[in-house]
Amino acid sequence: MRKSSLLPLVCALLFAGARSTFAAPSPGVPPGTATILHDVRPAQPAERVRVAWLSEWFDGLAGTPADTRVFIIDSGAPGATVFIAGGTHANEIAGILTAVLLAERAMPSAGRLLVIPDLNNSASTYTESAKMPSWIRIDTAHGPRFFKYGARFTDPVHQGAPDPERYIHPKGGDVLDGAEARNLDRAYPGAPDGNLTQKLAWAVMTLLAREHVDVAFDLHEAGAESRLANMIVANPKNLDTAALAVINLEMDGLSMKLEPSSETFHGLSHREWGDTTNAYAFLIETPNPAQSSENGNPTEDPKYPLALRVATHLASIGAILDAWNDGCAADRRIVFSYYPDWRVVQDQGVGALLN
Ligand SMILES: [Zn+2]
Repeated sequence: MRKSSLLPLVCALLFAGARSTFAAPSPGVPPGTATILHDVRPAQPAERVRVAWLSEWFDGLAGTPADTRVFIIDSGAPGATVFIAGGTHANEIAGILTAVLLAERAMPSAGRLLVIPDLNNSASTYTESAKMPSWIRIDTAHGPRFFKYGARFTDPVHQGAPDPERYIHPKGGDVLDGAEARNLDRAYPGAPDGNLTQKLAWAVMTLLAREHVDVAFDLHEAGAESRLANMIVANPKNLDTAALAVINLEMDGLSMKLEPSSETFHGLSHREWGDTTNAYAFLIETPNPAQSSENGNPTEDPKYPLALRVATHLASIGAILDAWNDGCAADRRIVFSYYPDWRVVQDQGVGALLN
């Protein structure tokens, strides 16, 4: 991976404050005070895009390293509200790049999109292994761009509480390793007075409910040999929608497995988002070779290049939204005047469509 001579300076600027000792925010702290600002460049007409902070929905996140930007792209016409999150796990880079691409380019002509490219921003602040890159480089027509390759869990420095010996999910009683207390995808529905990961989960739940989100996506990656790789996990209430999408993806040459949320395993996005709010909830997994092996290449693996994985996320979201549209009234649909073509991403790389 080549390095830009400006990169150290950029890193220093982006991390200013992020590693400082985490303190509880005081009222009136501006959003983003202790947060990494990632490179996201929306190009939709200015009147169609609003950049908000997640703390707008739960002010307990304001001034913390977990606050993160929400890109709202509104067609101005009635239709579905669709939520898309990358970066629940900040090392699952295909989900992050898919969300960045949609935040920069997707243009609904009916309904609106709420996109969070880096959902657990605290997890973006460190890497789990010296063998992992801290940044990945994507070449675009406008020059190289750099995206943070972070970790799976909230930074322990930011959590506000030491890891317990065992993490017991407050709702389901599931018993997990103590570090899982910092796993956002085990923290839902979260708690407004909990640790930082629980507050982040609470903020997402609040956004989903208050914005009346109809369809919600959580974009992930798994090890290349994992059972989860190339899988859609759907809340049981919207399993039919996912099944229709999987059939259509297969006809397009993309094979995705399908599973319903576990009845007994709690704290996961697809389970709690779908159970607690009106949203149809989906989680999408692609294979990241760097999650199976420290020597795996997260961007240029010959079998699972980043381009193919981003294309798979884009196609899966598109197929699920087509299936949603098939099943609802015209004024509840989401329609796009532009949606990034997954085949172009697969053939030419994600940089071909990034701004
Ligand atoms: Zn994940």
